[in-house]
Amino acid sequence: MKSFCVECGKEGVVYRGLCERCLPKKKSLLVVPPILELHTCKHCGTYKLPGGWKQSSLEDGISSIASKAAELPRDILHHHLSLSYAYEDENRLQVRLSARLGLPGMTVTEERGIEVRLKTTTCPQCSRQQGEYYEAIIQARAQQRSLTEEEVGAVRQLISERVHRDPGLFITREERVHGGINVYLSSNRAAKSITRELRRRLGGRLSSSPQLHTRRKGKDVYRVTYLLRLPGLAEGDTIELRGRIYQVLSLGEPALVRDLLEGDNKTLGSQELLKAERLESRSVQGVLISGTEEEMQVMDSEGYDVHRVTRPPSLELEGDEVTLVITSKGVFIAPPQEMGRRAGSRSRRP
Ligand SMILES: [Zn+2]
Ligand SMILES: [Zn+2]
Repeated sequence: MKSFCVECGKEGVVYRGLCERCLPKKKSLLVVPPILELHTCKHCGTYKLPGGWKQSSLEDGISSIASKAAELPRDILHHHLSLSYAYEDENRLQVRLSARLGLPGMTVTEERGIEVRLKTTTCPQCSRQQGEYYEAIIQARAQQRSLTEEEVGAVRQLISERVHRDPGLFITREERVHGGINVYLSSNRAAKSITRELRRRLGGRLSSSPQLHTRRKGKDVYRVTYLLRLPGLAEGDTIELRGRIYQVLSLGEPALVRDLLEGDNKTLGSQELLKAERLESRSVQGVLISGTEEEMQVMDSEGYDVHRVTRPPSLELEGDEVTLVITSKGVFIAPPQEMGRRAGSRSRRP
């Protein structure tokens, strides 16, 4: 479009009111993020480029991610990117990006300085080949008890979310072990951040122990074990151990527990307690509607639901009020001594 330049007044072709000379000084048409990350595999040297992991020169790699990240006006006819770079340090490059932009009736050149950060990681193909490669182990345990299935699920979920997001991260191996779970991860940095996030979500104490694993390219390579210990049991908690459901009456050595099906008390040593899994549970008051020697029907005072519960053999009832313990593994009767004790109360009992 023939017109005149709003900046210098020259007549001729203008783009957004500016002539070929004034346009680059007044408007920036090329938008690129100031920092770009270029992932490279530490094992095979491929680059993660738009479209997948490929062998490439560093320059082509940068050019490829810069083109992908660059935003240009829609009415641009054609463009050509060229670049030069210099190492700032081992992992950082200062890149001079020059773009020749073909616009209706004129061609302009724009330059941008960007920083490219080189990230070393492991490409999916090398992950598969190096099946046993790992930099860190995340161990999740709980004090005095086993992890619950929900806790194991939370650990697994957070890790798989990270693996999904991080192109170089993978799980080498996962082990269900006595009381918890071990997950072997390809990146120590990721493992560190994952365990911090797990502690934030689940609580507990976090410790780490690095061990010198090997030397690679003159550098010491460590493998780090992160141990997250989740909080243990509290009095009043409901636990499952070898298929039986207990309520913890008092902690200590040994701990005193009540078998909710049998209705009698029992002691458990700390080693045995370690195998127990804590169940989410709550206590509610209920009213006995009907019952036999084996089974009782109890209506709870919260939702007025009627629960069929097994009658503990040693249960002796006074009146028709009972306390129910509602868990994911069923509904149980708390023995009558428990009546009057507040739901979830953690007072110590003899
Ligand atoms: Zn002008
Ligand atoms: Zn690779």
